[in-house]
Amino acid sequence: MDVIGRLAPSPTGLLHVGNARSLLGAWLAARASGGKILLRIEDLLPDFAGHEEALLQDLLWLGLDWDPTPPGLGTVEPQLLSSDAGLSQWAPKQNSWQRQSLRQDVYLRIFKHLQRSGLVYPCICTRKDVEQAARAPHRDDQAVAYPGLCRGRFSHVSEALAQEAALAAAQGRAPLGVAWRLNITALRPEFAVLPNSWLDDAVAGPQWLAPDAAGDFVLGRKDGGFAYMFAVVVDDIAAGVNQVVRGDDLLQATEQQARVYQALRQVAWQVSEDDQDTAFWQRVRRSLLPVYGHLPLVHGDDGRRLAKRNQSIQIRAIRQQGVRSDRLMLWLTASLGLPALPDAAAAVAHWDWSTIASTPVVFGGKELAAVMPTDGHAPARA
Ligand SMILES: [Zn+2]
Repeated sequence: MDVIGRLAPSPTGLLHVGNARSLLGAWLAARASGGKILLRIEDLLPDFAGHEEALLQDLLWLGLDWDPTPPGLGTVEPQLLSSDAGLSQWAPKQNSWQRQSLRQDVYLRIFKHLQRSGLVYPCICTRKDVEQAARAPHRDDQAVAYPGLCRGRFSHVSEALAQEAALAAAQGRAPLGVAWRLNITALRPEFAVLPNSWLDDAVAGPQWLAPDAAGDFVLGRKDGGFAYMFAVVVDDIAAGVNQVVRGDDLLQATEQQARVYQALRQVAWQVSEDDQDTAFWQRVRRSLLPVYGHLPLVHGDDGRRLAKRNQSIQIRAIRQQGVRSDRLMLWLTASLGLPALPDAAAAVAHWDWSTIASTPVVFGGKELAAVMPTDGHAPARA
């Protein structure tokens, strides 16, 4: 099977060195197998739109190109990146990419099939309701598993909306609408894509992903938008993505994504042949879980993962100080267990899943100083 990977840069801000390392890993894994790599801008949340051009510039500066996105997938045709005059000297031929915000109508049509089959249900809980009702103690860094408060509570969405409107009136606030949660108890095992919750991760090795640790998680948000967990699976299936390389902060989320695959597979057999998205549903019926490779994160000197608030480790900040990408690439390639190489293309022949360290790597003040120019520009310290 031909590999199709994806560059799906984090939509929550500008890229930093840790994001760049994950993207390089995804790019190398696809290129080393002779496969394709697609670019997807995950701008589902309005707050995070607007970083697209900066992301494209950072990718091109890093020397990471991408293959054309097939038409009809929220496809954006290449545009000249005008605001960065120096870009053209290393910009490869640019291809089309995918923008999730152009796909809302598709997500909605597909979601309606889940609604009709009863695999999702309306929920009016607030975060406080969920935390108060959760019985099991939970770690601070983990979302509380949804205890199923609204599962079977409403016979129709209109009932949920009416209750939410009444609550809102009593509390003197505007109604928030309803969220839609996946009913994990309604999923049938014959459609599972992650048997017994064991993931054979290409980097981390066999991993047991706590089944249903999140409970009935949200696929449709109260504001009418769709959750990342839902959109990302729809898009991976639609584009034929079969290899996903990303940071291991998303390792446990793979279990939820496998549940979305399962739900879609379960309804796919009920969708009629004249459905508008019949090509998508045919893909769903054939779909398997992609190969996943979860890379250990990059930490700073403080031992914590790199944070977006630290501007000095942003690719844009490094680039704007006149640093050539080869200096950063030497660190990035070595950090992936490869020889230190000045450009991504040179690293393709060396790519090897087995040489990637299974522990976090550090990019701190020393590493930043090493990539900064030594011709009198004082590098901003981490
Ligand atoms: Zn609820």
